Amino acid sequence: MAKWVYMFTEGNATMRNLLGGKGANLAEMTNLGLPVPQGFTITTEACTQYYEDGRKINDEIMAQIMEAITKMEEITGKKFGDKENPLLVSVRSGARASMPGMMDTILNLGLNEKVVEVLAAKSGNPRWAWDCYRRFIQMYSDVVMEVGKKYFEELIDKMKAEKGVTQDVDLTAEDLKVLAEQFKAEYKEKIGEEFPTDPKEQLMGAIKAVFRSWDNPRANVYRRDNDIPYSWGTAVNVQMMAFGNMGDTSGTGVAFTRDPATGEKKLMGEFLMNAQGEDVVAGVRTPQKIDQLKEVMPEVYNQFVEICHKLEDHYRDMQDMEFTIEDKKLYMLQTRNGKRTAQAALKIACDLVDEGMITEEKAVAMIDPRNLDTLLHPQFDTAELKKAVPVGKALGASPGAACGKIVFTADDAKEWAARGEKVVLVRLETSPEDIEGMKAAQGILTVRGGMTSHAAVVARGMGTCCVSGCGDIAMDEENKKFTLGGKEYHEGDALSLDGSTGNIYDGLIPTVDATIAGEFGRIMGWADKYRTMKVRTNADTPADAKKARELGAEGIGLCRTEHMFFEGDRIDAFREMICSDTVEEREAALEKILPVQQGDFEGLFEELEGNPVTIRFLDPPLHEFVPTEEEDIKKLADAQGKTVEQIKTIIDSLHEFNPMMGHRGCRLAVTYPEIAKMQTKAVIRAAINVQKAHTDWNVCPEIMIPLVGDIKEFKFVKKIVVETADAEIAAAGSDLKYEVGTMIEIPRACLTADDIAKEADFFCFGTNDLTQMTFGFSRDDAGKFLDAYYDAKIFENDPFAKLDQTGVGSLMEMAIAKGRPVNEKLHVGICGEHGGDPSSVEFCNKLGLNYVSCSPFRVPIARLAAAQAAIAEKNA
Ligand code: ADP
Ligand code: MG
Ligand code: MG
Repeated sequence: MAKWVYMFTEGNATMRNLLGGKGANLAEMTNLGLPVPQGFTITTEACTQYYEDGRKINDEIMAQIMEAITKMEEITGKKFGDKENPLLVSVRSGARASMPGMMDTILNLGLNEKVVEVLAAKSGNPRWAWDCYRRFIQMYSDVVMEVGKKYFEELIDKMKAEKGVTQDVDLTAEDLKVLAEQFKAEYKEKIGEEFPTDPKEQLMGAIKAVFRSWDNPRANVYRRDNDIPYSWGTAVNVQMMAFGNMGDTSGTGVAFTRDPATGEKKLMGEFLMNAQGEDVVAGVRTPQKIDQLKEVMPEVYNQFVEICHKLEDHYRDMQDMEFTIEDKKLYMLQTRNGKRTAQAALKIACDLVDEGMITEEKAVAMIDPRNLDTLLHPQFDTAELKKAVPVGKALGASPGAACGKIVFTADDAKEWAARGEKVVLVRLETSPEDIEGMKAAQGILTVRGGMTSHAAVVARGMGTCCVSGCGDIAMDEENKKFTLGGKEYHEGDALSLDGSTGNIYDGLIPTVDATIAGEFGRIMGWADKYRTMKVRTNADTPADAKKARELGAEGIGLCRTEHMFFEGDRIDAFREMICSDTVEEREAALEKILPVQQGDFEGLFEELEGNPVTIRFLDPPLHEFVPTEEEDIKKLADAQGKTVEQIKTIIDSLHEFNPMMGHRGCRLAVTYPEIAKMQTKAVIRAAINVQKAHTDWNVCPEIMIPLVGDIKEFKFVKKIVVETADAEIAAAGSDLKYEVGTMIEIPRACLTADDIAKEADFFCFGTNDLTQMTFGFSRDDAGKFLDAYYDAKIFENDPFAKLDQTGVGSLMEMAIAKGRPVNEKLHVGICGEHGGDPSSVEFCNKLGLNYVSCSPFRVPIARLAAAQAAIAEKNA
């Protein structure tokens, strides 16, 4: 019989896959002898089984849950529904990877009319008992039965207004009792049934709700953004309650062992007295700083600090902890490796190495490459920032520089961003419903909430700039305006946020590009030391190439020559080339293009200083370049001595039903060899010139023929290239070396790679087209149905962003396996969009690719991901 349920005493930290992160760490803390309210974990496998069984908890799992309840009752000496010593529990979700705010927790489960009276009488604290009860009804209704939170909040607000108080804590036992009755009535009205009174029935309802929440839309979006497979499932933790709402000697809080925004080694956190659960993060009352606990309860504070040290030493990483104080007694409710900004991640990793806590390899392995993205984006220009005077200041909750137009709702943020506007989202506070809007915004500004508020936590996770808790803002959400620093701001007004200092500025402050220095530089140095795969860049211009070199690129893996044709008046000559009727006409036009291309290539070779440069020959369908405006058509006609009608006829003749599978790639060179000739001349002449100017460099152009599916296609084009190149080299009296290889992007090329490798010097996987051709769907149209595919769980990711290892990956594997034995000098790379995606980079490392190539800003991400893959492989 499978084991579906583990007591906390039976688990440990290595069982994260089975028990989820929260469950595994609750068990580990129990093993460490820390004060943890006891309980049990229902495994992630039980969640998967629940879905397999058609969203039902089967008898075997049910029996093990019941058994665990009995054990828990023995351990705690309390019993569900008992008249003497009733057991109350929390029901908490916990997946392998933490998913903040995605799954909801239910507290105080086990209460009913009778039990609440027992608690009130036994404790002599009826206010506490009724506070627990009304919270439970509220949470259960919201999480399990999906009656909106707002109905209950409205009732609370009404009650507070009636009683003339502003804070929840000012409501009396009697008020809370009335509220509990109102809540139950609300429940009955919305659900049509009485609120459940049997603790075991409540428990089963809550467990199912956690399982169900694994599949809610918010969780699905979060998983997709964070590469978490649906198949993992979530565990459920059932834990005895510790009560932070028992009065002034109780409280609850959260803390980090190091600053999650900057990485500074310093205990950070917040707590609230006489409060429970999410009160701290929900911004109900403004929490106190953790340091103040020293004054409020020195003994508890000292004990807590000691536990923090113990946990950090044990996990050898910054910890994010949740605790509750029940009548002066401290309980630990959670610990995990804390989420942090990219900046903090780098500092913490370097500090831990310097403290002798971890190795360099571990430091490299612990940084999420996706996070680096934020560091590579522009920062405020320091000089400009100095001149600017802040109009307000709040908490720097997530660093970065943000400037944009003000919007007031997540939907507006999404809509405006979709139109290409940069926006700053200003909210009273954020909630999980706002996630997509937060993602679309440059920055987030909230009126309420601390460093651990929803906005702060989620923004840090996304790497989005966030300034939180700006109480100086007088907000009028309804009319989409607010006042700050004596000025009224409306939707569309410009605002800048500094997520490091928490400063808020009027207008837009100019930004500058980021650089790799300090701790970032140290980590990248270690990454380069441990990785075995090279990292190149996709760059079409000397400026892009320069940027990529600064970010560590070791060559160009893909230069798309056609991108050069759009600049300035070059397009004119190119259009003449396309709209030629004869070879002579075409050659005349190409003659005009040749020096321009040669100049471009010289610029690239100069920037690359002897590192390899792969140049792909003309690839896209020609109709992408033809003029559409009447005026441009006329200009072209005049230049070529043709009539407007003649040009229009040529343009019409270029129409294709399926251009992505039409006249493009090497097919262009087969029909118009003169194009390949011209491009070869441009590449070779440029290389010879740059080599002459820098004799210590080793300029070696790699000419890449796109879209080859048959060896004969490749041979045909290669012959043109070689004849032209060799003639140029001989004429110049040079000894330049060059390579001719192919982009592998058609499934047939993979299937016949042993033939192609006989002739090709290199393979470079063009995984954008290879994905398109393997799936048989157009990368420009996939957006129309991908959402439906996600909803139906057919796809979990966009295969154009994350490499399909099963299908496309097999083709790649096959191409390498067939190609390498035939040509021992064959080098293999990837230059599709996937070259900068960490999980795809890991896969490429496994396949034994020589390099990955990606856009300039992804180069550091690929360097780190390549190092992590190498380290993981070495340690496997
Ligand atoms: P999340 O994963 O969203 O952080 P948790 O399961 O950690 O959700 O629960 C949220 C909060 O509920 C905790 O931070 C804690 O304050 C409170 N809580 C959970 N379980 C208990 C418990 N057994 N006793 C007291 N408070 C609890
Ligand atoms: Mg938690
Ligand atoms: Mg392609």
